[in-house]
Amino acid sequence: QCVVTCPARAAKDINCIEEVQKAVEDKNTITVVQGAPAVRVTLGEEFGMDSGSIVPGRMAAALRKLGFDRVYDTCFAADLTIMEEGHELLKRVKDGGTFPMFTSCCPAWVLYMEKNYPDLLGYLSTCKSPQQMFGAVVKSYIAKKEGINPARIYMVSVMPCTAKKYEITRPEMICDGYKNVDAVLTTRDLAELLRKKHIDISQLVEEDFDTPFGEYTGAGVIFGATGGVMEAALRTACEVLDGKPLKKLSFYDVRGISSFREAEVEAGGIKLKVAVVHGLEKIKPLLDSLRGGRLNYHFIEVMTCPEGCIGGGGQPNIPKKSVRDKVIKERMKSIYYYELGLAKRKSNDNPQIKLIYEDFLGKPLGEMSHHLLHTTYGSASTLDGKK
Ligand code: SF4
Repeated sequence: QCVVTCPARAAKDINCIEEVQKAVEDKNTITVVQGAPAVRVTLGEEFGMDSGSIVPGRMAAALRKLGFDRVYDTCFAADLTIMEEGHELLKRVKDGGTFPMFTSCCPAWVLYMEKNYPDLLGYLSTCKSPQQMFGAVVKSYIAKKEGINPARIYMVSVMPCTAKKYEITRPEMICDGYKNVDAVLTTRDLAELLRKKHIDISQLVEEDFDTPFGEYTGAGVIFGATGGVMEAALRTACEVLDGKPLKKLSFYDVRGISSFREAEVEAGGIKLKVAVVHGLEKIKPLLDSLRGGRLNYHFIEVMTCPEGCIGGGGQPNIPKKSVRDKVIKERMKSIYYYELGLAKRKSNDNPQIKLIYEDFLGKPLGEMSHHLLHTTYGSASTLDGKK
């Protein structure tokens, strides 16, 4: 059996299934759950469905059956991340900022930088990861809009990895006295909980996610595969630089399963040089070059797990090592196939994203965004003071 573990050993697999169950049963608690982009193409495997089966609607139905009060989709927050990260990149281009900018949505990668290259932390994007951004807006925007005391909200994430369990324990992930996210279930944890409750997702009828955070674009969906964050960011950044709707939305050069890929993209008269890396051993030579003053890229996506979150440490185990590549390719193919069928494929086209900026956040990189959605990395510590 090919058992998946967190390659960065960023977190012990803390089991919080019982804690989540208790919160769901507590009538005074409002339980809110979000499901990550990469979970929709793997959860079905736990219930005997073919690898790569796309199950967002069944996942929404299953989470509702478990008793969660609000069922949202992390793809919305992935769109929000792109709005912030894309504009951070554009600001660095405009103001002549620090390059390359590194993505910051993989907590195992952030921890690796903090422990091994603290002198290079200024190159990381200041964006929180989508799961943290989601928790921050639920406990502020939704709480305000619906007149709920944020202390009553218990935020749960269904994530592809154990590193996300570690991420919620970081002191930086507290806003206005509230933890952004209270508990993380991996894909395997959710499957275990569903089996315990005799819920078989293969037998469920698809349901929609709740509004307003159930609406998302293809850009948010592709976060689940290596290269997806880069492609999503390029769609928005190039459109802003060009000042007109982007004609070609697929950036094939950043897709694939090789552990290092690069591309050059021209927009608004500017040539953006970008790279995508997965696996920490592949990023080391690039970081050493940067330390030596030689690394000529604008933006680099780094994911710790092989092939990104679809191959994460909390994902279903693959029965045999010999079929691993095939299964991973099927998961990846499904993500791109699914996003192609969505009506909107750029984060800046998500109507709910436009609404939250109009209603609450103001503008990307604005004061409220900085307060809720950005942070400073460097502590590498957890709330209990451990490093
Ligand atoms: Fe988690 Fe994805 Fe990073 Fe793997 S690549 S550690 S699954 S965030």
